[in-house]
Amino acid sequence: MVKPVLAIVGRPNVGKSTIFNRIVGERVSIVEDIPGVTRDRIYSSAEWLNHDFNIIDTGGIDIGDEPFLEQIRQQAEIAIQEADVIVFLTNGREGVTAADEEVAKILYRAKKPVVLAVNKIDNPDMKDYIYDFYALGFGDPFPISGAHGLGLGDLLDEAAKHFPKDEKKDYEDDTIKFSLIGRPNVGKSSLVNAMIGAERVIVSNIAGTTRDAIDSVITVDGQKYVIIDTAGMRKRGKVYETTEKYSVLRALKAIERSDVVLIVLDGEEGIIEQDKHIAGYAHDAGRAVVIVVNKWDAVEKDEKTMKAFEENIRGHFQFLDYAPIVFLSAKTKKRIHTLIPMINLASENHSMRVETSVLNDVIMDAVAMNPTPTDNGKRLKIYYTTQVAVKPPTFVVFVNDPELLHFSYQRFLENRIRDAFGFEGTPIKIFARERK
Ligand code: GDP
Ligand code: GDP
Repeated sequence: MVKPVLAIVGRPNVGKSTIFNRIVGERVSIVEDIPGVTRDRIYSSAEWLNHDFNIIDTGGIDIGDEPFLEQIRQQAEIAIQEADVIVFLTNGREGVTAADEEVAKILYRAKKPVVLAVNKIDNPDMKDYIYDFYALGFGDPFPISGAHGLGLGDLLDEAAKHFPKDEKKDYEDDTIKFSLIGRPNVGKSSLVNAMIGAERVIVSNIAGTTRDAIDSVITVDGQKYVIIDTAGMRKRGKVYETTEKYSVLRALKAIERSDVVLIVLDGEEGIIEQDKHIAGYAHDAGRAVVIVVNKWDAVEKDEKTMKAFEENIRGHFQFLDYAPIVFLSAKTKKRIHTLIPMINLASENHSMRVETSVLNDVIMDAVAMNPTPTDNGKRLKIYYTTQVAVKPPTFVVFVNDPELLHFSYQRFLENRIRDAFGFEGTPIKIFARERK
């Protein structure tokens, strides 16, 4: 499914990130645990009533050293390009400013629906403040308060009216969708070209499909694959090139549409902070992951080099301990042929269902080996475990008290499940539910 995208636009300090965080809510994110990343959260999945959508805080897209107005303009342009619905945010306490008018001018030209919101209307007495904003020409302004969480329901109702109606499937279910994600110059485009050019690979089309993405459809040994959003890599616009956050945003959209994400690292340069950032999103999104170390031809090696690099990766990406690692070269094509089998493996495990009876045997054996924890004299009791979803495999453990299933024991159960069933290449999720 392709989820609708909502973007928040507006000059600084009107409350964009406050609203973003309100709408996103308390989503558990591994990315939050990586230093320096929390602040940077500009893209997330969100829910409103029965709508699943993605949300972008364009205020977080740092346009570099451009002057103030130019920054706002570029953020608005990105919103127009990326979003299905734009929330134009203003500050009711300051009235309409020249910068608001500047944003409005850009949004007039957009053929995308715009919903105007007036923020910082913290109490009902302030509702009159919104009348000024009719002058912006976007119809009825919605009074909201990010600080107090007021008015967001009405705003989202209105925005959701403009979500594309038939969230249609982009490809058949048995097609494996994957993307190559990584910072600029690690060799993503070269890898795509090497894969497309490989023996036994039939390229059926490279055509514009969903929205702005251009996907490559290939068939290998009768299995169909889609390489997501290679366009973003091939024809990089000015904004894409100069704006790290924008390229991250494009990567996040590609991750969202993928079954399997290939995280591409540069073997020659090693791992940097930005690599972790991107990898964290792939994990959070619950996608299958394969780590690809490219440019291995350019690395001076002895028999210990690969092992050392692998340990380095495991140290930096502890949350991806399930992801297989391949070392290869897009340039010499060495080990390029190992990628498709890796993608198959990760994809199979990502949608693997295990038998309930076997699963419960595994959990019972695990408990026998390592008794459940106690808290204040109360012991965790596990009654029953069942797999409730695939992509990624998701398990619910029915217990006497979910609070007692601490992270470390959950981790232990995860490891036991992995030992028993494999699941290489895919994250798995475990939730506790109370059974009275
Ligand atoms: P951004 O630059 O547009 O992302 O704005 P922020 O979300 O960082 O908010 C700017 C300032 O406005 C912060 O100090 C917020 O606490 C404050 N703020 C945000 N929403 C509200 C609101 O609804 N009412 C009031 N009174 N202040 C708010
Ligand atoms: P992207 O920005 O991630 O798409 O990276 P590109 O595919 O454009 O590659 C960036 C640079 O790395 C180019 O100069 C490539 O020729 C070079 N490159 C890509 N793959 C390899 C490789 O396997 N080995 C070496 N030595 N260079 C590579």
